[in-house]
Amino acid sequence: MWFNKPWPRFKGVWLSASFRGKIAAAKSGSEYPIQELKVATMNFHEYQAKELFASYGIPVPAGMVARTPDEAVLAAQGLGGDMWVVKAQVHAGGRGKAGGVKLVDTLAELRAESKRMLNMKISTYQTGGLELPVDSVLIAEATDIKSELYLSALVDRVNCCVTFMGSAAGGVDIEQVAVTEPDKIVTVQVDNTAGIQAYQCRQIGFGMGLSTRHVKQLTGIMTSIYRLFMDKDLSLLEVNPLIIDGADNLIALDAKINMDDNAMFRHPDLAAMRDEAQEDPTEVAASRHGLNYVTLDGDIACMVNGAGLAMATMDVVKLNGGEPANFLDVGGGTNAERVKEAFKLILSSDRITAILVNIFGGIVRCDLISEGIIGAVKEVGVKVPVIVRLEGTRVDKGRQLLADSGLAIIAASDLNDAAKKVVAAAASNGQVNGMSEVVQ
Ligand code: GDP
Ligand code: MN
Repeated sequence: MWFNKPWPRFKGVWLSASFRGKIAAAKSGSEYPIQELKVATMNFHEYQAKELFASYGIPVPAGMVARTPDEAVLAAQGLGGDMWVVKAQVHAGGRGKAGGVKLVDTLAELRAESKRMLNMKISTYQTGGLELPVDSVLIAEATDIKSELYLSALVDRVNCCVTFMGSAAGGVDIEQVAVTEPDKIVTVQVDNTAGIQAYQCRQIGFGMGLSTRHVKQLTGIMTSIYRLFMDKDLSLLEVNPLIIDGADNLIALDAKINMDDNAMFRHPDLAAMRDEAQEDPTEVAASRHGLNYVTLDGDIACMVNGAGLAMATMDVVKLNGGEPANFLDVGGGTNAERVKEAFKLILSSDRITAILVNIFGGIVRCDLISEGIIGAVKEVGVKVPVIVRLEGTRVDKGRQLLADSGLAIIAASDLNDAAKKVVAAAASNGQVNGMSEVVQ
């Protein structure tokens, strides 16, 4: 097993961990709903995950990452053999169906496929609407497949443990299996103190219908996976497919891992694998300015200080019939500069029909926030209605500044009033504002 230079960068947001959490919770008969929230995790490329797998003794096909067609050919020559698989490296599964996985049996074909993929952007059901650039391809020795299985481990929030899921229905979307054939998924919950036990591996293995030979191999693989999972503070590890190869051995044909990004500081080696090119550009920009930002599907932008208040604001917007375009926490002790950056960030999306600013001045002073808002609106030329609700320290001065600014900012008296106003403003799609005339 060898890879050339693993290359630096990272962070991301991934929906699938929460979806798999839901499956695990449903399987355990839990009555607690798991919110379909975006979970902030650091994502990895397949080649990076496989490198980690290999270092923990989890069998993977030999492979090497390449960033140019020339490198791809060199990689194939280095690997030897006469059949290879070219795999687009993006932070998402479902590549096979999107033309991102190709078997080739000549170097000319390998070069052509690598070139095609390296010029491609991939959008699959797992990319959350983003088009991910393919900056590298994994060249791997082609493997004979006898059958495709599914295996994963994830942080199961409902049961407060790591849960393993296995299925004989591998190689396909596990989301689909969970819906149509839930009985085909076997789960075990790992005791946090005892760790994974051999009998639990057998439970998964025999539950998947494996032979004794394969159950033995699976036990080794699951034990290593658990060790890797705990050592590296992962939130999800997924092997889809785990295959039985031509020599009748289990091998991880695909590999996906997510790390809990709160643990990034403990793993500088993994943090160095971050690939920002695979992330939502708005979220990357936000993290540079110390803003806590998550893109959502709606059209009403929210700018709030404090994560709790931001959640409450989103709830009240929804209660009033609106759809938030984002979660944005500018921080408890924010300043005018950050407010300005936050505005720019919000306005980089063209879906926005109105902006709701909800600030509670505790540590932060409302007059400084007002200065930030005025500065931002003047600088970036906001063309949608801005509804502002200010409360707390120096609120009078803050409101006065807004009123005197000459900008068409709509003041709100409380959160509910603000939500009503922003939903109404969004509905009339910018007609209530005169902002574009006010700001040149
Ligand atoms: P994904 O579509 O992004 O999940 O990418 P995978 O790595 O899971 O590959 C998709 C599918 O391509 C797999 O389920 C296999 O059926 C097929 N595939 C990938 N690598 C090989 C290989 O080495 N040999 C063969 N025969 N098929 C492969
Ligand atoms: Mn896969």
